[in-house]
Amino acid sequence: MAGEPQPDCLFCKIVSGDVPATIVRETETTVAFRDINPQAPTHILVIPRVHHRDAATLAAVEPQIAADILREAGHIAADEKITDTGYRVVFNTGAGAGQTVFHAHAHVLGGRGMQWPPG
Ligand code: 5GP
Repeated sequence: MAGEPQPDCLFCKIVSGDVPATIVRETETTVAFRDINPQAPTHILVIPRVHHRDAATLAAVEPQIAADILREAGHIAADEKITDTGYRVVFNTGAGAGQTVFHAHAHVLGGRGMQWPPG
């Protein structure tokens, strides 16, 4: 059922505490933790507690929680002091775009210069 925890989902296990993570912020609806393989000095993942396969699905089914994720990304940028230099919020959506974990998540990346277009 949409939103229910999935037994094989890594990020559901981080939400439940079965897999450890370096958590930096939590709300009633979201959890944010440091990426295990950081691609920038700040690389934090913001995920919903509920399970949806990608950000578009989350936004369609539970738009308030999608908004919560964006708000949390802004709080994280402030906490990490990367607002002045700029930061990037990325939702890889689909394997062809680099999505490897099929539980919706935002990457918050900052602390270094960024190129455009992204690879
Ligand atoms: P995606 O490729 O799906 O957009 O992003 C998944 C992210 O999850 C990757 O950046 C990857 O490094 C991160 N990741 C994968 N496994 C773990 C883990 O066990 N712990 C943490 N903290 N991050 C993980």
